[in-house]
Amino acid sequence: MIGSALSNRVEVYGRSVQALVNAMEFLKLKAKRVLATHGIETLEAEQWYPMQNVLGSFEDILKQVGPHTTRAIGHALPKHAAFPPHIDSFESALLSLDQAYRMNHRGPGNIGSYRVIPGVNRTSTVMCDNPYPCEFDQGIMEALYDRFPPKNSLRLRIDHDPGCRAKGAHACTYHLKW
Ligand SMILES: [Zn+2]
Repeated sequence: MIGSALSNRVEVYGRSVQALVNAMEFLKLKAKRVLATHGIETLEAEQWYPMQNVLGSFEDILKQVGPHTTRAIGHALPKHAAFPPHIDSFESALLSLDQAYRMNHRGPGNIGSYRVIPGVNRTSTVMCDNPYPCEFDQGIMEALYDRFPPKNSLRLRIDHDPGCRAKGAHACTYHLKW
């Protein structure tokens, strides 16, 4: 399942785990309890935590809450994350995703990525082969759209190519139009 192919030496930065927990809002207590059963009893912003334990915890929680809430959690995540000042548009936020992802993980091992290929006429293709859930990543992209609303755009459309990480595919490919 999620994260099983990861090196057990990859770590996640505490601040981003905190952001994840905070994004769970009413599930926060539950998230903390589940993290504790995976060996993460206290969560410090400046500490690093084994990615497998973090993913294992979220897998436990997300299995219970289902895809809709998973998407909502992804959607709440950027609210709790800090953005550098040069990020001032939806496109630049999308392009910064991978860097932000890398800054919040460390250690030897392949953690996958967020690959963004900008298109023409307000389109973009995003390929995700990171071990986080598909719905979660879709929620993140929607949240970036809400946080940096593009001018003259009513909504973000996300079309998912066939093949999904949730069904064992290596990556999910999304076509974005706004
Ligand atoms: Zn998918």
